[in-house]
Amino acid sequence: MKIYADNAATTKMSKEAIEAMLPFMENIYGNPSSLYSIGQEAKEHLEDARARVAKVLNCEAREVYFTSGGSEADNQAIISAAYAGRKKGKKHIISTAFEHHAVLHTLNKLEAEGFEIELLDVHNSGLVSAKQVEDAIREDTALVTIMFANNEIGTVQPIREIGEVCRNKGVIFHTDAVQALGHVSVDVQRDNIDMLSLSSHKFHGPKGVGVLYAKKGIRLVNIIEGGAQERGKRGGTENVPAIMGMAKAIENATADIEGYAKRLIPLRDKLIAGLKEIPYSALNGDETHRLPATVNFCFEGIEGESLLLLLDDKGISASSGSACTSGSLDPSHVLLAIGRPHEVAHGSLRLSLGEDVTEEEVDYLIKSVKEVVSYLRSISPFWRDLTEGKRTHIFAA
Ligand SMILES: *Cc1c(COP(=O)(O)O)cnc(C)c1O
Repeated sequence: MKIYADNAATTKMSKEAIEAMLPFMENIYGNPSSLYSIGQEAKEHLEDARARVAKVLNCEAREVYFTSGGSEADNQAIISAAYAGRKKGKKHIISTAFEHHAVLHTLNKLEAEGFEIELLDVHNSGLVSAKQVEDAIREDTALVTIMFANNEIGTVQPIREIGEVCRNKGVIFHTDAVQALGHVSVDVQRDNIDMLSLSSHKFHGPKGVGVLYAKKGIRLVNIIEGGAQERGKRGGTENVPAIMGMAKAIENATADIEGYAKRLIPLRDKLIAGLKEIPYSALNGDETHRLPATVNFCFEGIEGESLLLLLDDKGISASSGSACTSGSLDPSHVLLAIGRPHEVAHGSLRLSLGEDVTEEEVDYLIKSVKEVVSYLRSISPFWRDLTEGKRTHIFAA
């Protein structure tokens, strides 16, 4: 059996998204800034795509900016809000310790420029409350940036309530909604969102394209200087084929969020219940306030990389917050942020299911993970120390 269970890393492009792109590579290849007809034709389609994305997000087309992906959108949103705040003497930024690195590394840069960054505690649950945000907001707060759904553990934040607090206090609210779109309902007006980032390849669109939504009135700072594209806020010839593919993908991904949740949540919960049967294991993040298809566990006495390699042998593509995948020896900052000790943070597994996953596949995932965990424990000196009482267990049996 072959199961791709790493949809939080990237997704397979849909046939429809691919088909939506082809005409813009074969025939309508003009530069949207050119005045002759194939240029203007491309421009019309580009603006149609913008209107369709805006409709999905419930905003105006002029509030949608196309970027090279989620990372660029995060960078531009945060830097723009920070610099706008600085002009008014505001240098305080509120975020959380478990944001994506596109957010955290941008905040590090701003800290070096003199901004004060406050990272809210995400507790054991992997959730931030609106009350925490309210208590942290000060007179000089320029921006609150909190992700909609976490990419590693899948917890979903109370975004509407957080947005309401920010709106009442007059603070710009940005959310990285890369993991949320297509999995939970996202509506920038209902959710009181001022700025939002999306990435096409996380919802079956092409890679290298994304969206920054910025509510009208917010002044964007350019990250890419150049021509007058994107209302002068993002230089560079628009990637028309990719944008057309993304517009199709975003419509498909959001067409039936309720039906998707109805089908996936029972499968997700079955997976959680099955993996919980493994002794000395724990689910990471709140059990119910989570994405319908993302599950993350820690297993004591396991190295994440070995787990991934053995699962790969069984035809399963998954991810771990540990060494190999992140390219560093540090355990996942997300797992450390929710209070997991280093030794178990190394033994984590993220399974992010596709919408077409079957019950049979979920059964196979449970069976395979159980087999691999018990095999790895049988050859682990660390596990032997635990069983001989030379080390103490962290989780319950
Ligand atoms: C994937 C991801 C990003 C980065 O998006 P790219 O388009 O790959 O740059 C940002 N934030 C989150 C939460 C993500 O999961």
